[in-house]
This record gives sequence, structure tokens and C-alpha cells, in this order.
Amino acid sequence: MLAVALIWGVPDMICAQAIDSNLPELGDAAGAGLSMQTEKKIGQEIMNEIRMREPSYLDDPEVEAYLNQLGNRLAAASPDPGIGFYFFPLNDPMINAFAMFGGYIGVNSGLILAVQNESELAGVLAHEISHVTQRHLARGIARQNQISGVSLLAMAVALLAAHSNADVAGAAMASASAGAIQAQLGFTRDFEREADRIGFQTLDKAGFDVRSMAAFFARLQRATRNYENNAPVYLRTHPLNVERISDMQNREQGHPYRQVLDSLDFHLVRARLQAMRGTPAEAVAYFKTLLTEQKTLNVTATQYGLAVAYARQNDWQSAEKTLADIRQGKDATPMIERLYAEARIKRGDLAGGLSVFRAALNRYPNANALVYAYGESLLENRRLEDAQAFLDQSIRKNSADARLYKLQSRIYAASGKAGLQHKALAEAYALEGKLAAAIEQLELAQKTGGNDFYASSAIDARLRQLKLRQQEEAKLR
Ligand SMILES: [Zn+2]
Repeated sequence: MLAVALIWGVPDMICAQAIDSNLPELGDAAGAGLSMQTEKKIGQEIMNEIRMREPSYLDDPEVEAYLNQLGNRLAAASPDPGIGFYFFPLNDPMINAFAMFGGYIGVNSGLILAVQNESELAGVLAHEISHVTQRHLARGIARQNQISGVSLLAMAVALLAAHSNADVAGAAMASASAGAIQAQLGFTRDFEREADRIGFQTLDKAGFDVRSMAAFFARLQRATRNYENNAPVYLRTHPLNVERISDMQNREQGHPYRQVLDSLDFHLVRARLQAMRGTPAEAVAYFKTLLTEQKTLNVTATQYGLAVAYARQNDWQSAEKTLADIRQGKDATPMIERLYAEARIKRGDLAGGLSVFRAALNRYPNANALVYAYGESLLENRRLEDAQAFLDQSIRKNSADARLYKLQSRIYAASGKAGLQHKALAEAYALEGKLAAAIEQLELAQKTGGNDFYASSAIDARLRQLKLRQQEEAKLR
């Protein structure tokens, strides 16, 4: 089902009031264009709202890691690799990917499942990356002198209103003025053409098959004709026409055919997303059929998808058996190892599962999803001292990962260490740019009894630091 909305905006469930109203006034920024620093700040605030309130936001470290691996490979080949991108998945069947302020790029599961190969997905991401590196949003704002008095808040709302399910979003969110701004923010044909051109170069430089770009967009356009109802937003904000597609095809001339093999992770991520669709029983049946009819591009990924579906059914025995079969072949990856370790623990073999985790962590020390899952398993099985030691060690290695602090906070909570629990949560919020919430947690940490001298001084010192940072940010605004 090719429902089409390759739009550019933010999902619709977030309402105006939810957005931090301390965002800077657009008036200051419009003349000179928006600085990347301001863009980043706005992007981060919208990202926080998405994490908290957007039901389709997919908090899946494995899918996220894959998108960032693919996206950063492309970003490294883009004209401005230093921007710093963050790619995140949404569990939404609409075919969609969208760039927000500051390099935050959302990718719908519908897109990942609709592409026919990894180069096609890379092509769409390269186009979105180019909207960011070419500063299209900032340039779009600078062009519109008449909205210079409008706050960025209103503009963020306008972006939210651009989401596909406009009928659901309804009147609650999109005020008349937001609608007017949204219309002005739709990408011009010039911006689209530039994103196509730069995206094409990026795709080529990153080593993907450049023919995939026109192939996918042409398929999308054919689908648009059949799904008129889902198309309007896309057509308003992302004009896709015959001319764009023929431009892409012209660029392909002179590029020799390049065979690019899809990565195993690409297939595994698709299987994982597919296995999340429908009821668990439907998902199991879907993958079983693929395997019996031998209609599969990648048997390992199809078996992995079946195991994910079994896991959704809580049939851990079958999940373990299916994964054990894959592991006997040469295909081992962090994703397969993670699920296999979990399956063993869930069906009752705690020691065996934990040792699979440890072996995998040795082999893939940078696989964050393994780190979270091992910590979760220790917590769930009340190995609290081991869990604390493991999180301390993981945070020493990667002190900029908010997920680690959130897990650490839960482990402290389970251990009855309330002060440290609040302090860990404060660190997570600070990393997400939520200074007020971080300060609140530190004040809670101060109030709880039972902190030793060392912990108390650490909490006090951190609180002073964050308050200072908050004052500095207030001055900048
Ligand atoms: Zn575009």
C-alpha cells in the first residue's frame, strides 16, 4: 500500500501549548537568517516533544541505530558533514521522511518497508539531508519578511500542522495564522531541485546506486495518482513532478551501473518493522508463509522476523529455536544476539542468556542496543549490584547518552537510592536540553534523605552548574 506523503513537517499529535514558549522571537533571526545554533535548539525542543507525546514515535534503539548508521554515512558525503544529524524512526505506515530544524530527520516505517533496496532508502535520506545542509528552512524564513514578527513557536506549530493526517489533527491545533505560515513554508520548486541535485551527488559519493533515486520517486508518483486522498499535503509542500523525475534520470546519464548489495542490517530492520505490524499471530503467519513459499530475499532476515513475531506472542521457546538456527550459520549480528539472549532469559535460562549478552558485548562493544538490553535484563532479574556496576562502566564510556542515565535512574529506584535516582534522571534531562526539568530533579535529590556526604556535594555542585547554564541561556534569549 503506497500511501504517499513524503512531506516535510512534524507529526500532528503535538499541540501548540506543549512547545516551550521560551523559543527566541523570529524577528531577531529573520534578517540574517537563522543561525545553526538556533536551528539546533528548536530542533531539540521539537524532538523532545515528539519523544514525549507523539504516539508513532518508535523508541527502538536498533532501528534508530541502523538509520543513524546509514544517515551518517550519507551525511559524511554531504557538502556539510559537520552539522551533526540525528535520525529517528516513526511507526507510521505512511511513506514519509522529513527534515526538521538543526538536522533532526524523521523516517516513517512505511518508507523503510516501501523501498525495494537500500539505495532507494539512501536516496530519500540524501534528499532530506540536502534540505538541511542547504539551509532551506532558514532561507525560507528569511525570504518571508512579512512573518518576521511571528514567533518561532507559531512556526513550529505550522510545521506540525503539515503532517499527513490533517483531518485528525483538526482545528485543535492548526490556527488560521499557522495555516498561512505553513503555506509559505512549503518548499519551492527551486529548493526541491537543489535537494535533488545535492542529494544525488551525496548518494553517489557515499557509494550507493544513483539510479535508485529516480526509480523510487517515479514509483511514488505513480502511486500518488491512485491515492489522491493521501497526497495533498505532499503535493503542497513537496512538489513532485515529471520535470523533477526527468532531471534525476538525466543526471544518471554517464554514471556507470553500480551494483550495491543491501546490508544485512537493512534486511533485519525491515523484518523487525514488518513483524511489528498486525496482531502477533498475523505476524507469525506472515513470516511462516514467506519461509514455506521461499518468497524471501534474505532467509536470515525472514527467520529473524519470525522470531520477533514469536517474541510478541511471548512464545520465547520458538523464538530461541528460530534464532539458534540462524546463529549456526555465519550470520551473527548484534540484533540477532540481543534477541537470542533475551529469549533464553525469558524462557528461564538466566545464566545462559546473560553469558550470551556478555559474549556479544565483547564482540560488538559499540552496539548500544545490546548495552541497554543487558542492563534491562539485569534490572528485571534483580541483579541490582551487577546492574549498577555495568551502568557506571557504560556511562564512563559514553557519558552523552540520555538513555543510559534513564536506565541508571530506574536501577537506583529499584535499589532504594532515591537521591541518586533523581540525579541520574537530571543528567538525562540535561542531555536532552531540558534544563528546568533537570534542575527540578536535582532539587528533589537534595530533599531526599540518605545521601552520603559525597553524593550530597555532587548533587549541590551539579545544581549550581545547571542553574548557571540556565541563566546564561536566559541571557541569550
Ligand atoms: Zn524535498
